[in-house]
Amino acid sequence: MSPSAGMQTTTRAIHGEPSYTRVKREPTKLLSLYNTAPEAEITLEEFELYALDRLQVLRTIESLRLRGIKGDEFKMKLEEVMATCLPMSQGTVEEVLKDQVSHFILRIAHCKTEDLRRWFLKHESELFRFRLERLDSGERAKFMEQSGLAYDMVSKEDVLRLKAQLQAVPIFSQQPGYGQGGHTVEVTRTQFFRIPFTQALDLVAHRQVFLEAGFAYVPVERLVSIIVARFRSSLSRGLLDAFGSMPYVLADGRIAPLVNNMAKQYTGKDFSETKSGDTVNVNDLDMLADRSMPLCMRVLHKNLRSEHKLKHWGRLQYGLFLKGVGIGMEDAIQFWEREFTKIMTTDVFNKQYAYSIRHYFGKEGRRKDYTPFNCSKIILGAGPGVGEYHGCPYRHYDEANLNRLLERSGVGVTEREEMLKLSKGQHYQLACAKHFEVSHKGAESVISLDGVGNHPNAFFAASMAYYKEKNGGETGGKRGGKESSQSPAGSQASGFTAGGEGGEGDDRGTPTSPMAAAMEVEAGSGHPPEGGGKGGREGCLHRKEV
Ligand code: SF4
Repeated sequence: MSPSAGMQTTTRAIHGEPSYTRVKREPTKLLSLYNTAPEAEITLEEFELYALDRLQVLRTIESLRLRGIKGDEFKMKLEEVMATCLPMSQGTVEEVLKDQVSHFILRIAHCKTEDLRRWFLKHESELFRFRLERLDSGERAKFMEQSGLAYDMVSKEDVLRLKAQLQAVPIFSQQPGYGQGGHTVEVTRTQFFRIPFTQALDLVAHRQVFLEAGFAYVPVERLVSIIVARFRSSLSRGLLDAFGSMPYVLADGRIAPLVNNMAKQYTGKDFSETKSGDTVNVNDLDMLADRSMPLCMRVLHKNLRSEHKLKHWGRLQYGLFLKGVGIGMEDAIQFWEREFTKIMTTDVFNKQYAYSIRHYFGKEGRRKDYTPFNCSKIILGAGPGVGEYHGCPYRHYDEANLNRLLERSGVGVTEREEMLKLSKGQHYQLACAKHFEVSHKGAESVISLDGVGNHPNAFFAASMAYYKEKNGGETGGKRGGKESSQSPAGSQASGFTAGGEGGEGDDRGTPTSPMAAAMEVEAGSGHPPEGGGKGGREGCLHRKEV
């Protein structure tokens, strides 16, 4: 099998030795550059579960970074998830196999687009760095040797000859706490490597190595960034190779759907039901849109209220979101009917639109209970066309439109600039988390921000919890009143459009992307939103959901 191709997937798990045999700690068993795909045979169920468990680890890294968690807290939280989803403490046969297999499955699942490749590269590199840093100096040197990262070791004689220059390097001269056990690292007791300076540009730029004749003298403690850079460039090439192998992988009907949809799998809370006990009244939605919804849903709500209609993907994205915040089917039908019947008859609404609402509540068609879309699904999905408002504004709006939208949402100039920069750098979810931060001052000290920037419903739930905390137990929404008099519809709607000029496309037209095709749920189609029926995955998945 080519290194970039998918796994063999027959019916055997792991032949031979018992899976959990403990072996001596071997660096190359604890860490890999993933240059060669494993030859093992695994079951289809293992194929999916291994990949989802690794995805959970990568998403945890993303989420911790989104929340600005660093240092020991980052390590501790990641250790916890790793211990359950991707344990590599001993390098057992089972652990190594799962690590290798899951990496290559996710590699093939994330090679299709630049966005996916970038995401995978970034978080796999972080995972690699985390694991590399867990090795001690001796293990690290052994890993390099066994992995063919052949750098010249500097002889003891040369270290003594260059002692004064090496001692002047900041990690020895200026950071007395650096090194193991909190003591200064002795130059003569450290292993140095001679590395072409072009491979150590990061260290050279920060004046953290001694240079001589085009070579950087790098102490083993500083090798991490160099090895991670090598890993990154090798994985980057591997992703392109994997892209070339896609036709062969997709020709296998057993694994093609799994590979195609893996990146869209959500591994956090699914928000299929409101567990907090706080119900939301549809009459509060105008107020809640301004106060507690993320931009994507705010845009949809505003445009629904101003145009009294949303096209298919907008209805689906917003409808499932409302379902996730706890609005029941009858209330949802009334809510949509109240808007739509401002421009059409009740009969038309019932015939063309009520069915799809009942469908995603699991009362029609295949009777599957669909879950709200998470950020990955929205961001990776097809963007809005003319007259459509679905998608993620940070991903799908141009800079001017996003700036205007943020301005009208009350975000100040400095914060706006920061968010626009994040969005431009394709850190859409970080920009969204920043929006939460600026619109909920001091939230991190009173509520959990888990999932903010990963799921629109997590944003909403965190906002509700914030206001509940702030208001002494009240979420701030009105109960059972008449239609809100605070409707901002019309007055602000122009600031919340997707940049299209309006106009009527085919409201029920053919979806234009694989995701769109998979999510088709129009009245009578019988095709539910793909992936929507998956249950939530808090922690990693150890049971296959069908
Ligand atoms: S990042 Fe997620 S929650 Fe935020 S606007 Fe985009 S899709 Fe919505």
